[in-house]
Amino acid sequence: MTNAILKCPKCGSYSLKESCDCGEKRISPKPPKWSPEDKYASYRRKYKEQEGT
Ligand SMILES: [Zn+2]
Repeated sequence: MTNAILKCPKCGSYSLKESCDCGEKRISPKPPKWSPEDKYASYRRKYKEQEGT
């Protein structure tokens, strides 16, 4: 989960370490995105649970 590759926005180096040698903090090059479909599916499932009880 936490072993995602990180990229330094300043010098562009990749590493698993958050702190870069240049002093900049590395960030995940592609952050996890939630698709609208998943969001709605989760919402609808939650709504359905409430409806069921
Ligand atoms: Zn750097």
